[in-house]
Amino acid sequence: MKNKNKKQSVYTRSAELVERVFSEAYYIGKASAAKGVVASYIPELAKADPTSFGLYMLDEGGGSLSFGETETRFSIQSICKVIILAAALKYRGFRGTFDHVMMEPSGDAFNSILKLDMRSNLPFNPMINAGAIQTVSLLTDVLSFDELTAFARELCHDEGIALDEAVYKSEFESGDRNRAIVYLLKSKGVLMADPDKTVDLYFKMCSLSVTARSLASLGLVISNGGVDPLSGGRLIESAHVRTIKSLMFTCGMYDFSGEFGVRVGIPAKSGVGGGLVCAAHGMGIGLYGPALDPFGNSIAAVQAMEHISEKLSLHVFDY
Ligand code: GLN
Repeated sequence: MKNKNKKQSVYTRSAELVERVFSEAYYIGKASAAKGVVASYIPELAKADPTSFGLYMLDEGGGSLSFGETETRFSIQSICKVIILAAALKYRGFRGTFDHVMMEPSGDAFNSILKLDMRSNLPFNPMINAGAIQTVSLLTDVLSFDELTAFARELCHDEGIALDEAVYKSEFESGDRNRAIVYLLKSKGVLMADPDKTVDLYFKMCSLSVTARSLASLGLVISNGGVDPLSGGRLIESAHVRTIKSLMFTCGMYDFSGEFGVRVGIPAKSGVGGGLVCAAHGMGIGLYGPALDPFGNSIAAVQAMEHISEKLSLHVFDY
């Protein structure tokens, strides 16, 4: 028997409703941006305007919505961890990846070093710095930075993605904590490549410049099981997408992942450049708001996504 109270599926929801909800979310996000602060531990990021906000939605039918600063370029930062994981699964396979990094939420800050030394020899998951650096070490001898950039361009439908030299320089000069992580991994005998080459490739990947629109394309490919709905081409194996989405859901928002899972419930990945990619049912959503909360997530993007998820019933466990 049909449940009359069951909410409308996202696939049949009216375009007017979707547009209204995204428009409201944009104003909610914009109004909350002032409560956050831009990242300053990488000096170049401190130059961002904290009031900036952009929201872009791309659906599997080719429709799109754009609000605010969706063409502003900013550095991808931790969102590159999704691309690094996708590349590792592609070139090393599931076992070849997870023999070297775990798949557990850490409950710690993204750049924490604590549990890496105390409890385990392997980093907790590929969505935190230690895990991403370890995953990069699986790729250092397999793929060049240019090849990884080409993969990022394909996933994001964005030929403009390139190294932001100023961010890379800043990252390189202020990256001692990441160097501590890579050398700790080396000291434990688990790092799979040269530490300096590994951390350099990680810095470069974090310094790729994207837009909210390019992140929406990435989100759409992931939400669509690895096939680019616009070209029909397969970019990621569907089994790998399941793994990527699971880790985005459980670990993608650092030590806020549990609360984001409850409140928003959409596989997502944030970066300290202010970006957020979301892989929702039938749509990819890309956001940019450089003012961050204490976890390192964009405050405007999180507020906007909470509204969108609630009003459009996009939580993966909504019934
Ligand atoms: N490049 C940043 C770092 O390694 C990425 C962290 C992030 O976006 N949370 O510290």
